[in-house]
Amino acid sequence: MPSSILLKNGTALIHDANDHVDALVTDILIEGDKIAKIAKDIPAPAGAEVIDCSDKLVSPGFVDTHHHVWQTQYKGRHANETLWQYMATGNLTSQLLNPTDAFWGQLAGCMEMIHGGTTTVVDYCHVTYSGEHARKAISATLASGIRSVFCYAAMAKVTSWKPVTIDLNGLAGNVMADFEDVAKKGPYGDDGRVTVGFGFDGFPFLPKEYAAPLMSKLNELKIEVITVHHTWWDLAGTSPTGLEKVDQSGVLDNRFLLAHSGNSTQADADIMKKHGIHVSSTPSTEMQMEMGLPVMAFRTDLGIQNLCSFGVDCHSNNSAYIPDEARIGLQGARAARAQPHLDKGKLVSQVGHTVEETFNLATIFGARGAKMGDKTGSIAEGKLADLVLFDMSSPAMVAGSIHNPIAAIILHSSPADIDTVIVGGQIRKRTSKLLPVKLDVEGQSVAGKDRLDWPGVAKAVVKSREGLQKQIDGIDMVEGADRVKDWFHITDSMLVDVP
Ligand SMILES: [Zn+2]
Repeated sequence: MPSSILLKNGTALIHDANDHVDALVTDILIEGDKIAKIAKDIPAPAGAEVIDCSDKLVSPGFVDTHHHVWQTQYKGRHANETLWQYMATGNLTSQLLNPTDAFWGQLAGCMEMIHGGTTTVVDYCHVTYSGEHARKAISATLASGIRSVFCYAAMAKVTSWKPVTIDLNGLAGNVMADFEDVAKKGPYGDDGRVTVGFGFDGFPFLPKEYAAPLMSKLNELKIEVITVHHTWWDLAGTSPTGLEKVDQSGVLDNRFLLAHSGNSTQADADIMKKHGIHVSSTPSTEMQMEMGLPVMAFRTDLGIQNLCSFGVDCHSNNSAYIPDEARIGLQGARAARAQPHLDKGKLVSQVGHTVEETFNLATIFGARGAKMGDKTGSIAEGKLADLVLFDMSSPAMVAGSIHNPIAAIILHSSPADIDTVIVGGQIRKRTSKLLPVKLDVEGQSVAGKDRLDWPGVAKAVVKSREGLQKQIDGIDMVEGADRVKDWFHITDSMLVDVP
């Protein structure tokens, strides 16, 4: 008999076949890693753990479709940076992390997500500087309990810090051999909870003779998610667009998951629709780094919202809580929608976008973007038991959780309101506290023990940050940002001084 958990009398947010969400008071029986039954008055099986949910909202776990999970040690340092400045201080300096640093950043990043109810992540891991980095990051991911598509990234690399020099060929060196080794050994965990995907931003610049072998390698390795930053490939008015050029190269298919895509044209959206390509919007990072508004998930004019979802992108830059992304994205979209009319002295007759569509972007649409729509992202019999229990009577949730539970989650909640997080039938947060994690042999070689609680992880992150800071202090970041401008073809005449 698999282990079982019975959630009694919760208010469960259940999707119907049309992605409409109803709040139903019901029991939910979890057997092994799956939801076995949803009904009233389910008798508790022998040995089952019974959780009284009469004051709990039971939500599907959130799905984060674009996140650089390793970045924990870099929290707080990008508060006043635009994207190209962050690319120097955050993205390029990922190369300073050794495999041990990668382990701690990754473990803490995954645990922050679990704390905030994210049960599935598409991790664009750009600390894959060696197979050893990847193995440590995967070990940390497994230990945390989160479900992950670990996208092994092939990216530009710094070849010298003095002067700052960047090799833009992401496929150079051992990266593909290391990736192949890691991919062949996956999926990881007894339950296959961590699968391997591929992250690569070079598609718009890739000659055909390189594209064909790359795609055939991804096919051979049965890679199901190929994730790409679709940012500033072209500025407004460029024709053909970068995505049109990539489409002409013949590589696109429904495994592609783009990040951002904020300035897309209708032609770009038609390409996404034609291939079933998904897009991850990351409102906090996109808005904070001034990458355009509204984010793609709310570009309802383009007719592809059902292909969109939310990502955190950089938890070094903002919180890792998906409802924060939902809230900021929704409010930014409403503001952007109204402003042109306000500028003309008019008022919009009603607000745009609903909290329900926003909740779907945070759950079931994200699951589809991660190619797991049939497994997670909603509460249904036979699906994985990836569930979040909110406290309906917390100071933030009280009353709202009864009147409109989705609004309570999207507009009022924080991780503090999450009592319990369950991933694949395993409880990872209980009574508002993260549970200790168990480490495999790879993780034990870093931590020197087989079990860690959050305070132990936090202590190791702080120590790792200190070592990284000493290295960062020796780097000329102004020069680094200049090299990034060269890389992105940003000339001084393109930069506008705005008071
Ligand atoms: Zn990103």
